[in-house]
Amino acid sequence: MPALNDVLAALDALWPPERAEQWDAVGTVCGDPDAEVTRVLFAVDPVQEVADEAVGLGADLLITHHPLYLRGTTTVAASTFKGRVVHTLIRRDIALHVAHTNADTADPGVSDALAGALDLRIVGPLVPDATDPEGRRGLGRICELDHPETLREFAERAAARLPATAQGIRAAGDPDHTVRRVAVSGGSGDSLFDAVRAAGVDAFLTADLRHHPSSEAREHSDLALLDAAHWATEWPWTEQAAAQLDAISDRHGWGLRTHVSRIVTDPWTAHAAAPAAPRSTP
Ligand SMILES: [Zn+2]
Repeated sequence: MPALNDVLAALDALWPPERAEQWDAVGTVCGDPDAEVTRVLFAVDPVQEVADEAVGLGADLLITHHPLYLRGTTTVAASTFKGRVVHTLIRRDIALHVAHTNADTADPGVSDALAGALDLRIVGPLVPDATDPEGRRGLGRICELDHPETLREFAERAAARLPATAQGIRAAGDPDHTVRRVAVSGGSGDSLFDAVRAAGVDAFLTADLRHHPSSEAREHSDLALLDAAHWATEWPWTEQAAAQLDAISDRHGWGLRTHVSRIVTDPWTAHAAAPAAPRSTP
């Protein structure tokens, strides 16, 4: 049975913490390095419901994509919701480890899992990591479809293949626009429009697209946009990451039991569509 330290060393090899963005807060939030690990839960968000799920499973380690604390704090009092998560975990000897932007740019990373969920053929990274001589790491992925689809069909594909959320998929563009080549980026991707335009793709699928960047991108070209729920674009990574840890566990004979949380932690819980969505009238 491995110690937490052994598992963390393996995770750091998959997602080296030094590759995280400077503003990010990745790594171990709580946990005893010498504690034994037998059961691991993967999730996108370190929220109370997920901490409770880890307790219910008898997990020793919770691995999330999003950090619990991104900025400094002066309290872990259980009267704060983050402090309550910390208390819940420590009381049950559950470690919390975060792989965020270091998992985004990894090979395979968050956007590989997203492309895999959408059944797309990956061509390469959208924003290659300049420090990777093989050019396989980086932010987002450029992908191709086996057969061209209309934007309408591609949006339906995304809605069917990504985990269900209240938001579903929003699309911008002519529904009959042909989609052959797409860029995908898990999480908030509207800072990537320059790279997307340079990639010459037909469509860009990401999350959290805002009015102005989207409007300007649409004015520049006929690039179609697809906006999925943030959680839904990153959840496929949890399955990919669990499979990666399973393979490591098998190699070392660790016998780890890995689980993937299916709790939908996207904050949006309802969606009311207009009876007939107008194309261009206010
Ligand atoms: Zn995210």
